[in-house]
Amino acid sequence: MLGGHTPGMHDDTEAVAVPPIPARMVNEVTYCPRLFFLEWVDRDFDDNHFTVEGRAVHERIDEGEPTTPLGDSDSPWQARSVELSSAILGVSAKIDLVEAADGEVIPVETKRGKAPDVPEGAYEPELVQLCLYGLLLREAGYRVERGEFYFAGSRKRVEVRLDEALVARTLAMVELARSVAKAQVAPAPLVASPKCVGCSLAGLCLPDEVNLLAGSEAPGPPRALLPARDDAQPLYVQELGAKVGVSGQCLQVKDRDQRKLLEAPLVDVSHVVLMGNVQISSQAIREVTTRGVPVAWLSTGGWLSGLLDGLGHGQVALRRAQYAAADDPVLCLGLARAFVATKIANSRTFLRRNLGTEEPGLTLELAQLGERAASAESLETLLGLEGNAARLYFENFGRLLSNDNLGTFDFKTRNRRPPKDAVNALLSFAYSMLTKDVAVAARLVGFDPYLGFLHQPRAGRFSLALDVMEELRPIVADSVVVNVINMSVVTSKDFIRRGVGVTLNAEGRKKVLKAWERRLSEQVTHPLFGYRVSYRRILEMQCRLLARHLRGEIPEYPGFKTR
Ligand code: SF4
Repeated sequence: MLGGHTPGMHDDTEAVAVPPIPARMVNEVTYCPRLFFLEWVDRDFDDNHFTVEGRAVHERIDEGEPTTPLGDSDSPWQARSVELSSAILGVSAKIDLVEAADGEVIPVETKRGKAPDVPEGAYEPELVQLCLYGLLLREAGYRVERGEFYFAGSRKRVEVRLDEALVARTLAMVELARSVAKAQVAPAPLVASPKCVGCSLAGLCLPDEVNLLAGSEAPGPPRALLPARDDAQPLYVQELGAKVGVSGQCLQVKDRDQRKLLEAPLVDVSHVVLMGNVQISSQAIREVTTRGVPVAWLSTGGWLSGLLDGLGHGQVALRRAQYAAADDPVLCLGLARAFVATKIANSRTFLRRNLGTEEPGLTLELAQLGERAASAESLETLLGLEGNAARLYFENFGRLLSNDNLGTFDFKTRNRRPPKDAVNALLSFAYSMLTKDVAVAARLVGFDPYLGFLHQPRAGRFSLALDVMEELRPIVADSVVVNVINMSVVTSKDFIRRGVGVTLNAEGRKKVLKAWERRLSEQVTHPLFGYRVSYRRILEMQCRLLARHLRGEIPEYPGFKTR
């Protein structure tokens, strides 16, 4: 355990002014204080089918009849989408429907799904939200004794008395929300709670994983709360002169003669990758960035030259933690050790699995280098150990290639800028893809991908992405390279020589990208958490676990060490 700066402890002492808290966020704090923090304080958001359905129901309400001004409650009236705010309560709300009759006003909240079979008529978070509507209307001068839910799934209205006990519980939840917001530190995840199963933020929160790594007692292994694989896939466009546009709910790619090359539903696109001279319309950029779908520009050789991801979620606190950690030599060294030691361990496993023969001398030497890296006393020592391990690894890498293909894949040593043979061209291309994918994941999590801990900042270099990808180079990138050579996916026809350099041609890139996506979709058993998960999900999880470490939630960054 390293001394010095404790991650996440730099930003919780400042006075924080809390703006009015939306009533639906007081609903969330009642469900789970951490959910409230992630969504309202950190502004992290993710959809699941519950949230998508719920939003659709409310959008229909908001698009409905225009709002009628609130009036005297003696004569009947209705008003929709009523916005209220109270400095005294410290909350705001947008009420679906307010009805007045016989001197009384009733707030009505529409909920997706069926009415729950509970004596209170609804679950506690919803009761609290409805009660807040009543309190806001009372403060506006109306008599409010009850509220109603309309459950769209069962087309049923349920009445709730806003009695003193409910008011007291509601005010306690507002106070809880204010204290969580002021503390600026995420509450610990719930332990083995069934609430996490239906929570839209389970993939961001990683409740069981964080609890395990933080040493909290839990009755069983982490649950797989997320689909093991993303359904959304990257859209690669590399056709010279092609243009990406938007048509309805789809991205459309046309060639320079306006012929349609392909169409992809926006919901199925995780990010857009434009390679070489490819255009994208501003309508398409606006559409994808508002959906949080990044666009990456790459040269035809795979060099990442730009990344656009709209406004993101803010995540100021995470970036402040990242900057503070990068300025702390002790913390930097701890992270750098983890990245390098895990990379060496994975290189050793990769060689052991693929050489086909037992090589005790080689594996022992790599194991010793990994152990020394895990306790290296300076960044310089660590870089030296990493260099020695890389030399040993690449001295043996050529032995993994079984299809020499008339000398095309004769590998002697690692070289780059430019790569001077086909194998090095493949390695460089695969590492560029990995940089791009980790940079995209790092941005989605809220990091500044330029600021790393092992790789020092250099203009235009995605240092953080280079850090996190270290451990994944052998098991993701090198694995794809060995596979496309040994399975004869690529041949000498897929490369071109430019001066002293060798690069993939368009057809070769297409083949490698296919193999790349196949590898990222492949599922493995997570060595720490025990469930099946795709490599693409692992890229994102590693970035999220790094964020949890920097925010002080888990004591160590856990590298992804394959077995
Ligand atoms: S996953 Fe569980 S702990 Fe995390 S925010 Fe959701 S309910 Fe709370």
